[in-house]
This record gives sequence, structure tokens and C-alpha cells, in this order.
Amino acid sequence: MPFKTLRLAAPILRALAEEGYETPTPIQAKAIPPALEGKDLLGCAQTGTGKTAAFALPIIQRLKLAGELGDAAHAPRRAAPGRPHALILAPTRELALQIDESLRTYGRHAGVRTTVIFGGVGQNPQVKALQAGVDIVVATPGRLLDLIQQRHCSLADVHVLVLDEADRMLDMGFIKPIRQIAAMVPAKRQTMLFSATMPKEIRHLADALLRDPVYVEVTPVASAAPKIEQCVIHVAR
Ligand code: AMP
Repeated sequence: MPFKTLRLAAPILRALAEEGYETPTPIQAKAIPPALEGKDLLGCAQTGTGKTAAFALPIIQRLKLAGELGDAAHAPRRAAPGRPHALILAPTRELALQIDESLRTYGRHAGVRTTVIFGGVGQNPQVKALQAGVDIVVATPGRLLDLIQQRHCSLADVHVLVLDEADRMLDMGFIKPIRQIAAMVPAKRQTMLFSATMPKEIRHLADALLRDPVYVEVTPVASAAPKIEQCVIHVAR
């Protein structure tokens, strides 16, 4: 099944073709159609499955390209300074940078403006980037809260919220900041939560943040092929 069948707009299809992507991965095939409709999503998937594009492509399309598919009611608006339209939360600086890079790649023909926010570095360049006006912010929770408290950023215009690697964010002690941040995002929004594992705490968080979510799950790409028999043989040194 080619990407075309997923009702993605031409500027996105062009970027995917340039990246050499031919067919959607299983998580993309399952997640993109409901995400494009604006539905909430609970995704059980690990890194390496293509989950970044699974949430990034629908965000780019709904934020920037809704008008291209004849949906004039959703003509894109320009983001005001410090007031992004989508927020993606990630546990680490490395993941946040990777997601930002992917958004730039997939959104390069869609005029998407993004920025990335994380702690451990000076905040001034991040504040400047926010003030220039960005559609999408990718952030680690702690620094984002700092910037919100200093009024450099407002979540009042956010209508798509993503939590990526939610289990890792919980492990790292981000549960309270996540709940604080989510409470600042308007209730009328799309929320997507991705996690490699689904322990009780993640289900509780999902219950609190998601509304009637579509559940999508894929087997990790790193899992063993079912037809390969495996055994362990202990040998002498
Ligand atoms: P992710 O799980 O989002 O970190 O993606 C894993 C890797 O797969 C990244 O290097 C992507 O560039 C790549 N990728 C994602 N989707 C596709 C696709 N449909 N076809 C080929 N490569 C892909």
C-alpha cells in the first residue's frame, strides 16, 4: 500500500518520496488515518517502528495543509509569538532533537515552523525562537514549564498535544510536570500518547488525558522473527 492511499497532501508526499519512503510502516498505516481525522490516539510502539512520522505527518497536514484537500473551514492560521499550535513532549534532549529534525524533513514543503526546547543549555536562543512564532514546539517537560512560568510561552492556542515515550517520561519523574502542562492545553484538542510499554501508570495517564482514543499497537521491529527457532547452549570457556 503506497502512502498516497492515506490521503496525505502533495507537499508531504513529495517530502516522503525525497526521503525514499515508499510504503507506510505498520504503525503509520494504522495511526495516520484516525490521526488525520483528529481522533485521540493511544499508541504502543517502540523507537524504530516509524512512530515519529505516524504522529508528525497528521500534525503537519492538519496544521498547515487542511485547505489543500478542499477543507476550507480549516484554513491554516499563523501562530502568534510564543503561542504554538502543537506541542510534542519527549523525555530527553536527544529524542526532542530527533523529532524536531523529522518535522523539518517531513514538513519542508509545507512551510512548517518548529522549534525545540530542552534544559541544560541557555534559554535565550529558545526564547527568541519562540517569539519568532512557531507552529510546533518539541520540548522536554522541565524547561518548557520554566519558560511558561516566565511567560515566554503560552499553551492557550495548542490544539494538538503529543506525549512521546510516555513510559520513559514517567520513569524520569516527569509525571507532575506532564499533568501540569496538559492542564494548560485547552480541553478541545487532539491528544496522542505513545509508549513502548503500557503499565498501569500509563493507562491511568491515558485515561486522564485522552478522550475515546483509538488504540494502535505494533510488534517492535527488534523482536525475533517467529519462524526462527532459538536456543542457548552453555559451553566451557
Ligand atoms: P522512528 O521509529 O520514528 O524513530 O523511525 C525509525 C526510522 O525509520 C527513521 O530513521 C525514519 O527515517 C525511518 N522511517 C520511518 N518511516 C519510514 C517509512 N515509511 N519508510 C522508510 N523509512 C521510514
